[in-house]
Amino acid sequence: MYADVLVEIPSKKIDNTFTYLIPSHLKDKIQVGIRVKVSFGKQVLEGFVLKIYDNYASKYELKEILELVDEKPILNEEMLMLGEEIAKTTLCSKISAYQVMLPKALKAKIKNKSNIKQVKVISLAKSNEEIKDYLLKCRYPKQKQLLEKLIEDDEIVINNLDSCITTLLKHGLIKLSLKEDYRYLAHASGNYHKVVLNNDQQKVVDTITSNLNKSDTYLLYGVTGSGKTEVYMEIIKEVINQGKTAIMLVPEISLTPQITDRFLTLFGNNIALLHSGLSDSEKYDEYRKIMRKEVKIVIGARSAIFAPLLDIGVIIIDEEHSTSYKQDNHPRYNAKDVALLRSKYHNCPLILGSATPTLESFAKAGNHVYQLLTLPKRANNNPLPLVTLVDMKKETEKGNYVLSSLLKEKIANTLAKDEQIILLLNRRGYSSMLTCPLCGNVVKCPRCDISLTYHKTSDMLRCHYCGYNRKKPQKCDKCGSEDLKDYGLGTQKLEEIIKNTFNCRVVRMDVDTTYQKGAHEKIISDFAQHKYDILLGTQMIAKGLDFPLVTLVGVINADTTLMIPDYRSSERTFELLSQISGRAGRSNRPGEVIIQTFNNEHYSIKYAKQHDYLSFYKEEMKIRKILKYSPYYYIILVSIASKNYEKGFKEATKIGDYLRKNVSNDTIILGPTMANMFKINNIYHFQCIIKYRYDDILKDTLIKIDERYKEERDIDVYIDIDPIKI
Ligand code: ADP
Ligand code: ZN
Ligand code: ZN
Repeated sequence: MYADVLVEIPSKKIDNTFTYLIPSHLKDKIQVGIRVKVSFGKQVLEGFVLKIYDNYASKYELKEILELVDEKPILNEEMLMLGEEIAKTTLCSKISAYQVMLPKALKAKIKNKSNIKQVKVISLAKSNEEIKDYLLKCRYPKQKQLLEKLIEDDEIVINNLDSCITTLLKHGLIKLSLKEDYRYLAHASGNYHKVVLNNDQQKVVDTITSNLNKSDTYLLYGVTGSGKTEVYMEIIKEVINQGKTAIMLVPEISLTPQITDRFLTLFGNNIALLHSGLSDSEKYDEYRKIMRKEVKIVIGARSAIFAPLLDIGVIIIDEEHSTSYKQDNHPRYNAKDVALLRSKYHNCPLILGSATPTLESFAKAGNHVYQLLTLPKRANNNPLPLVTLVDMKKETEKGNYVLSSLLKEKIANTLAKDEQIILLLNRRGYSSMLTCPLCGNVVKCPRCDISLTYHKTSDMLRCHYCGYNRKKPQKCDKCGSEDLKDYGLGTQKLEEIIKNTFNCRVVRMDVDTTYQKGAHEKIISDFAQHKYDILLGTQMIAKGLDFPLVTLVGVINADTTLMIPDYRSSERTFELLSQISGRAGRSNRPGEVIIQTFNNEHYSIKYAKQHDYLSFYKEEMKIRKILKYSPYYYIILVSIASKNYEKGFKEATKIGDYLRKNVSNDTIILGPTMANMFKINNIYHFQCIIKYRYDDILKDTLIKIDERYKEERDIDVYIDIDPIKI
């Protein structure tokens, strides 16, 4: 018998299977999807068995498989299919596709046993009768107590061996053993109470639950607070009742403990949670619960789409517009595409939910590729909050650079009513930087072409791309002026300004305050318990949060997302403003939103003010059509990176020329140009953009480019199909 093994060759981009002989003692145990050890050249490497067969004619003598790594396959038939599809559609190697599907703990070769948390347990070593006999003559109350407890409980988890346990062990009355334990246990808070669905919600649930055995894709377009989460829970409940399983993806679960809490309340321990807040071993524990079929529901971020559930009855992707569903490094897969494959495989519905669907999804709903389901109102019949735009051109003339008069007044009023406030500092492409007021020089990173961020507490400058840091310089490097100023506005500085202006309790949420494990959850739960009046932060606070006492949302600077040179910048601006507005007035108190902007005529801001997704969609679609961008055209990004500027530019030009010659006539090639992030950590980035509608030779051309540069040392070429940002 023979096996084709996909070998994991470090640092080489070989992606072929090799045939090995199966030694007779492994014949009964080997299966497709199992990992094996094989010798490859002079090394012993691991690989996945992809095929097993009886006959093979070879001129060479084949090597034998050395040993099996797993007892059971870790990739089943479906996983093998998914890996192949991902490799094909994202142009990645099969091995990296399979690796991305498995938890790190498996990959990191932490051998199964050592990576499993174990606890010590004691149990009775004799029959209950014998123990009872012993109890009659026993004079030690502690021993008696313990033995009686063991008769009742069967086993007890212990931390250490005290003298009482040691004695009982010595007498052979009890025995000590190790038991596997799971590290991560989430509990429901008890604050959530089930609601009765309203008519709109019930209609959505009925439509989907009466079609549970079809692989239709639904776009659930429901305004913020329309009760989408309740709908998901109801559908999952039905799926579980039918004995099937469910996957729900959320953008970044540690940001939304409120969502998990609702699920834990309803489904208890029937859930595995997979998110980036867990350590690798904790993730592995959750993974094992799934493998052992101990849970039927998986909730998690992007990679949870690979959860090895069998018999899936529904897949839900909440906040489907979130860019986090696309992995932005190799392999560049999109969880939405994987979800579609799995929904086809399991013949089950896929639900994409959002208050601000991507243009691509809404267009598909328009073409009846997806079925559109709508929740037009907030669940509790509250109106959406009143949004007011403040023209910051006028405010800066009055000397109000950070807080407009109106926002100040509203904050004061809200505090007076003892209600809560969320303030968003839109930090994308924007940060606190040191500028020379005499010559305009900005202090930049020497390795990246990006201004350094000034951190006031440590008086340090840091590069957010490469980590370079330095003390704040005394003088301007250009003109020698000693008066470098921090004109930018960071969250830290905003916090200071707020504290100096108002007498209130402020909590800040940004990368600096949340890098520690559990910090997100703590800030959110403290704010929910009204330990603070104001939550201020970056994009992190815009999504998914539900605080009943928040009646005012302020956006300090609406415009920075608009400045990003990406064709999706209007969409991102609309989405961000709509999502953050959605945090106001979610319970019975009316909400209000103040958006400070220099672009109050811009359609993305105007329509966000009116909560008018449809008008925004129409306007943006017109522009996409004229400019030939997605969803009218498919986009592919070819990035070229090199340490050497000349070499990078030369190869990028070659690639651009090659592309122009080897694609269909109506395919458009832009570039090469310098990438948005041109110089990062001393590496120069160039890019070509491909826009196409139908092109049957393009794929081959891309594969050729990919092959051509695979082994190249000082040049890296990445191909991103359907990029999420350019
Ligand atoms: P979404 O996910 O669409 O933003 P949620 O499911 O979080 O909306 O619901 C928003 C708020 O409305 C939550 O506080 C939720 O408990 C409440 N809610 C949802 N459905 C109902 C309902 N049918 N009746 C009353 N309150 C509801
Ligand atoms: Zn840098
Ligand atoms: Zn200067």
